[in-house]
Amino acid sequence: MANETTPIEMDQAYQLWQQLTEKLSDVFDAHGAYAIIAHQIAVTTGTKVVVGVASILNRYYDVWICDSAGEIEQTRWDNAKASFHTLIQTGNVNFQQKYDAPPAEVINSELWRIAKDTILTVPLPWPGKYEPISPPGILCLIDPGESCRLDQTNLGPLAANLTVFIERANLRSQVYGQDIRFSVISDISYSLTSTLSLENIFQQLMDPIRRTLNVESISVGLIESDSGEIEFIDVMLGPLFQGVLPVRLQQGQGIAGWVAQHRESVIINDVYADSRFHAYFDQQTGFLTKSMICIPLQVEERVIGVLQAINKRDSHFNDSDLLMLKAIGGPLAAAIENAQLHDVVLSEKRRIETIFSNMSEGLLTINGNGLVTNVNDALLTLLQKPADQIVGQNVDSCIRLKKGSLSELESAILDGEDENPQLAADLVQNEGHSIPLLISSAPIKGETGETDEIIFVFSDLRQIREVERMRDDFFHGIIHELRTPLATILMYARLLREGKAKEKEKANRFLGVIERESDRLQKMVRQMLQLAKMEASEFHRSAQPIHLNGIFDYMLPPLADRATEKGLTFRQNISADLPPVMGSQEIIDLIIRNLIENAIKFTPSGTVQVKAWLDGDMICLVVKDEGIGIPPESMPNLFGRFFRSQTAVERGIAGTGLGLYMTRESVRKFGGTIQVSSVAGKGSEFTVRLPAVKE
Ligand code: ADP
Repeated sequence: MANETTPIEMDQAYQLWQQLTEKLSDVFDAHGAYAIIAHQIAVTTGTKVVVGVASILNRYYDVWICDSAGEIEQTRWDNAKASFHTLIQTGNVNFQQKYDAPPAEVINSELWRIAKDTILTVPLPWPGKYEPISPPGILCLIDPGESCRLDQTNLGPLAANLTVFIERANLRSQVYGQDIRFSVISDISYSLTSTLSLENIFQQLMDPIRRTLNVESISVGLIESDSGEIEFIDVMLGPLFQGVLPVRLQQGQGIAGWVAQHRESVIINDVYADSRFHAYFDQQTGFLTKSMICIPLQVEERVIGVLQAINKRDSHFNDSDLLMLKAIGGPLAAAIENAQLHDVVLSEKRRIETIFSNMSEGLLTINGNGLVTNVNDALLTLLQKPADQIVGQNVDSCIRLKKGSLSELESAILDGEDENPQLAADLVQNEGHSIPLLISSAPIKGETGETDEIIFVFSDLRQIREVERMRDDFFHGIIHELRTPLATILMYARLLREGKAKEKEKANRFLGVIERESDRLQKMVRQMLQLAKMEASEFHRSAQPIHLNGIFDYMLPPLADRATEKGLTFRQNISADLPPVMGSQEIIDLIIRNLIENAIKFTPSGTVQVKAWLDGDMICLVVKDEGIGIPPESMPNLFGRFFRSQTAVERGIAGTGLGLYMTRESVRKFGGTIQVSSVAGKGSEFTVRLPAVKE
């Protein structure tokens, strides 16, 4: 080939330059540009042309082969096959003949498979003043013949011209790629501000990032504030891992742990070669993690979690992927933080609402204008009104008190007289009934310390009054109960002393009365002592295994006598060799005796039955009678202190109302239970279960 430039040669190169300028001016797609270059040069020079362009990570070449007729074929050669590398690296136009080329290159090269004798090559883009952004490539003319006027001299300038178009097309596609990324980022940032649910946040972010980065999966791990562990919950792992158990990494464990601890992002293109990688997740799911970008999610200085992009498809992760992930990381962390704060506030709100509505005390809040803002069910029940008749109303118009008003308490708070004023007053109900209440109040202050609202707490004093009444009744009852036998004893003693019972039989009868009444007195005093001891929980300290059969042996015969004396049928069915129960002799005696004595006492006629047996690991004791029964309205209070049902009182049956109270307290303290079923007028059945001691 001649070194000087002839007009014809210039013509062809010039002609090509013109044709290509025209054709490439509208082309912004890099691959399209390479194809046009191959095609135009092949057709104009009548020579087969090969254009090869390295892939982004230099792992293979995209290749366009065009014959002189314009038939074009696009293919992909791996680096070894292409053997373009050395030719490109010279940075020059190269003319090579087959017998000059190194034998290894000739044997392996695809290029030499196509070329018979010679190749003329030029690097694309042509090395210039600027760092090219286009990947390295090559233009090859295969066996250029007579019709080809391109040579070592004019090919360089032509390549320099083409470089302008190639660079422009590559630049354009990169900018276009960045544009897409930028719009994805701004879309995500925007949508993140509009949701407060972690799951929604993740849903919105997952797909766009996955598609834009071209990765298999995106996941978010959140740091637990207490343990510092990172938790990947399934909703934050994406559809690939639906239903997978939450994966947890301890502090510093795995790549995510490292990233969170060091507050540094990482790009790892072969995770299994990285000693920080923790394969637990892959083992659990069967997923194969290959490459990963992991960035810390930070809110100010705090790391709240990590964002991971996993397994880049087709290539490796690069800095631009990292930049994109980082651009999303900021708004994502803020959105997660907001969602978490929102959750905390919500659950706190729910907690307060639950307390508010479930308090047994009535609650009501008012705002600065004295209007009711909230009221709970307990107060609505007291007021016997629905919420909509209260909320929004002036507080004094809906809470009517016999004496005083809630606005008095309000003024005391607002005037700074008293932070927590109280008022004991009677609440006037709908039908004119009134309920004694203790009303306490307190200000609810805002951030500035100003009183925003006032809360009123209504304690129903009826129960306390009832207890007070019962206690008074009890004392009166006790005094009465003590006075009656004492008076009887005194009277019969006097009669005896005055010689009013001269006959022996009469004297014996008088003495019998004295004895019985003394017994009764003694029993009452004993019960009161027992109660006093029980309250001081003395009995329960000395628990030991107690044999029930022994107790039944001495207790049942006199009780059976008493029942039969009264004309009742007494039946007993006690299993022999019952295992012991834990307790004290005195208390177990008290439990059994109280129940049987009550059965006899409250049964005017019929049968009293006592049964005891081992039921699993519990001893079951049943005392059943056919007596007066217990009216349903007495059931809730039956085991209360001093409680005596109206029927018992009306029938003049003596008692203190302490027996069942002490019985239930004792059974409970020894780990047992007591149940009662009763039909008024038909009879009652008490069932006690106490844990048996394994011998
Ligand atoms: P007391 O028998 O001294 O009155 P208790 O505490 O033993 O006290 O019983 C409380 C109340 O329960 C009794 O007054 C009675 O109204 C009711 N009661 C207890 N046992 C029976 C029973 N077997 N049949 C009917 N009523 C009973």
